Amino acid sequence: MKTTLQINITKTSKSRLQETDFDNLVFGKSISDHMFVADYKNGEWTDLRIEPYAPLHLMPANSTLHYGQSIFEGMKAYKNEAGEVLLFRADANQKRLNESAVRMCIPEIPAEIFMEGLTTLLDLDRAWIPNKLGHSLYIRPFIFATDDYLGVRPSETYKFMIFTCPVGDYYSKPVSVKVEQKYTRAAEGGTGFAKAAGNYAASLYPALQAQKLGYDQLLWTDGKTHQNIEESGTMNVMFMINDTLITAPTHTGTILKGITRDSVLKIAKEMGYTVEERFLTVSELENALKKGALQEAFGTGTAATIAHIATIHVNGTDYELPAKPSYAFSHQVLKKLDDIKYGKVADTRGWIMKF
Ligand SMILES: *Cc1c(COP(=O)(O)O)cnc(C)c1O
Repeated sequence: MKTTLQINITKTSKSRLQETDFDNLVFGKSISDHMFVADYKNGEWTDLRIEPYAPLHLMPANSTLHYGQSIFEGMKAYKNEAGEVLLFRADANQKRLNESAVRMCIPEIPAEIFMEGLTTLLDLDRAWIPNKLGHSLYIRPFIFATDDYLGVRPSETYKFMIFTCPVGDYYSKPVSVKVEQKYTRAAEGGTGFAKAAGNYAASLYPALQAQKLGYDQLLWTDGKTHQNIEESGTMNVMFMINDTLITAPTHTGTILKGITRDSVLKIAKEMGYTVEERFLTVSELENALKKGALQEAFGTGTAATIAHIATIHVNGTDYELPAKPSYAFSHQVLKKLDDIKYGKVADTRGWIMKF
């Protein structure tokens, strides 16, 4: 692979490939042999390297552990029948990581460090990319503060790392969700649009309360009025009502700008659906459920692509959505996205990088 940056590579002397059971992959459990690392110090990203996946050495006063300057990305690589690697919209992940970085006072990563680090790593761990349809390599880039200093201020040093995990078919059975009108995921002016570790930490407790009541996920509402549907768990959420696809807009800064969300909206428009980027209110949702007008509801995100919603709890009532055969749109869009990601159709949108 052609690179222009100096990336020092230390290969593992003991690959874990043979002991990995590719037929029984659990999401996030099997980690590939190598990781990419870059250090930020004296105002620049340096020491680009690939090393065996191994523990980190941290001081107890490491500022991330106390004040949480930590952001991440999630994306996937696929293999086609010819054994080529296909990366889906990695440039969008690179840009989003930097948008998160700015909000969290973390120095941005130059695009070439992100892309060359990533492609060099994927090339080295090519054998870890599953070649079965539905399987893929999950990629986790992240940046965190490394100052050994307990004062509250943006850290002066950071680590940027990428590691990867082979993952199996992430078909999720249709989920049940509860409309959450007490707890808040994101408030205007806050960090909801950033893929920041702290957003996840804050969402665990409300999610756990819903799980204790028997629901898989929450449907988050806005922090001010709790009347507008924002996201579902850690996915964007979409509703099909009267053949119109509705999803929350991103201008409030409280919605994570999902790349799957964007891809689904673009494909929906190409398919001739009317797309409305606007807030669906809780009462609109409730009325649609009462009338049986809600045709489909689903979460969108890199891990599952589409997670169908089977049950919605709102204002004390559980509503069942129409059963599986009627997922007319979401099944079609999932198939179209898979065809693009696995290289079964030509990439006409510039979404695939192949090597
Ligand atoms: C990552 C994420 C999503 C989905 O983004 P994709 O780019 O589609 O994977 C949606 N909501 C939240 C809160 C997220 O963190």
